Amino acid sequence: MPQRMTDQEWEAQNRGPHPGRTPAELTALGICWHCSGNGVTYTAFGGNQRAVPCAENCDNGKVPR
Ligand SMILES: [Zn+2]
Repeated sequence: MPQRMTDQEWEAQNRGPHPGRTPAELTALGICWHCSGNGVTYTAFGGNQRAVPCAENCDNGKVPR
């Protein structure tokens, strides 16, 4: 059984594969700034960890061209 992430670790996934980049830099790279290229955003509250589809109409984390 995989180890359970803490809520903090779960939400840290929102930083995606490009931590430290600004939204403008991500957009310039063709990556959705909202979900950092994940296609989903991660929310956790009291151990209830959920992955929510990105609210932007991105293509699985990429900016539609
Ligand atoms: Zn997105």
